[in-house]
Amino acid sequence: MSDMNLAQWQYRQAQLTLPTQAFIDGSYRDAVHGATFECINPANGQLLANVAACDAADAELAVKAARAAFNDRRWAGQSPKERKLVLQRFAELMRLHRVELALLESLDMGKPISDAMGYDAPAAANCIAWNGEAIDKLYDEVAPVEEGALALVTREPLGVVAAIVPWNFPLVMACWKLGPALATGNSVILKPSEKSPLTALRIAGIAKEAGIPDGVFNVLPGFGHTVGEALAMHMDVDCITFTGSTRVGKHLVECSGKSNLKRAFMECGGKSPNIILADAPDLDAAAKSAAAAIFYNQGEVCTAASRLLVQNSIKSDFIERLLVHAREWVAADPQDPATRIGAMVDGIQMEQVLRYIEIGKQEGARLLLGGERTREESGGFYIAPTIFDEVTPQMRLFREEIFGPVLAITGFDTLEEAIALGNDTDYGLAAAIWTADLNKAIKGSRALRAGTVFVNNWDGGDMTMPFGGFKQSGNGRDKSLHALEKYTELKSTWIQLES
Ligand code: NAD
Repeated sequence: MSDMNLAQWQYRQAQLTLPTQAFIDGSYRDAVHGATFECINPANGQLLANVAACDAADAELAVKAARAAFNDRRWAGQSPKERKLVLQRFAELMRLHRVELALLESLDMGKPISDAMGYDAPAAANCIAWNGEAIDKLYDEVAPVEEGALALVTREPLGVVAAIVPWNFPLVMACWKLGPALATGNSVILKPSEKSPLTALRIAGIAKEAGIPDGVFNVLPGFGHTVGEALAMHMDVDCITFTGSTRVGKHLVECSGKSNLKRAFMECGGKSPNIILADAPDLDAAAKSAAAAIFYNQGEVCTAASRLLVQNSIKSDFIERLLVHAREWVAADPQDPATRIGAMVDGIQMEQVLRYIEIGKQEGARLLLGGERTREESGGFYIAPTIFDEVTPQMRLFREEIFGPVLAITGFDTLEEAIALGNDTDYGLAAAIWTADLNKAIKGSRALRAGTVFVNNWDGGDMTMPFGGFKQSGNGRDKSLHALEKYTELKSTWIQLES
């Protein structure tokens, strides 16, 4: 962790040069049509930079460069060991630039600088290194066939991969795609969110410095309906790998079907249940974790534990403990290292969350904490951590992803009821169950329809664990060795031997 104080961070900010141009075929350049969009600091509403607004013409250039790089095998043709060394260098340079990357991330999307330094920047570098280190340790297969043949099952890179990512963890989400796609030898075109393009643009230059050949890693900042759509519909893009909302994920699957049936992997939204049973080993630890699980990153987390399901016999006691911990999450200046909850990514997201808070009140849920905008005088977009009790499964608070610091509490009596409530959702990204009873923990974790189930914790896991969803939370998995499978095709080669 850095031990810089607020004044030192502000000094570092004043020294920053913000990356604003697209990165295509190894060099930074303006958008073909010269357009730009405004990148706003959500902590104070002020303009940070005007960034290149790419469109279909830029997508065309990037796809051509990526395809040429793939076809002449300047990257795919390098041995796994060579690619590993480049990716390790890339990760090392990211670590070297950690302060700059953390600062860009915090300025761009409002997250606390301590989180950006403590998690985002190092986790992104670690992901690149982890995938690089894995790639020269994987073997292909020889199939168990008759003696007169040799049958090989091998993996090959897909070709040109377009990665479209969201704004809540811009760098980490980008690296969850980049790491395995580059390690397996693909060329990548990254489209960051128009709300948070800065770190993606910065790491393009770092990747080049590390030795990623020109054309192999391109970055196109711009809007979803322009450059994003052009990539999704492009006939020469082999894979679209996406993290974002379920609404856009569904649309991108359609784009795949309407164009060239490109591989389409979608990591989408969630409405994750956090189940607290009366016999949880440490109710105070569970309450502290429940607060962090919804307020960390301003609640802008796909796995946010936005539905708290508490056994009725301990509900009022648990809520008291929860409120104590929740009050420690006070929205403040993201650049202050003491801040735990920063600004919402922009005014649009803030308004959307405030609308949900109004809906909650109108639906009859009981407001226990927060429920309003704060720090308005800063010019930024802050929301006070908010908790509603008496939320029923019919309410929109229970059903819809809010993507903000808003917690919905619902009571239950039995484990069976808790599991039914937990699974009563279109999503299936994460879930948790807190109990000291091993049988309940296993029964519960088996019955919960979610890609990740936490037992007596929230958000455990590292690069070794797959990450992704059941149901409308998506398909495919990021992280772990399974992520590498997404970016390769299986090839069967049957070699007939002379008798
Ligand atoms: P979003 O779906 O609005 O945008 C995501 C990306 O898609 C952006 O880069 C956007 O520009 C692009 N896009 C939008 N329309 C497009 C189109 N027509 N064609 C191509 N690209 C298009 O999501 P968001 O608001 O940036 O992020 C929040 C969402 O991301 C939440 O639903 C959250 O749960 C989800 N998320 C999921 C995970 C996960 O791993 N499952 C992780 C983080 C965030």
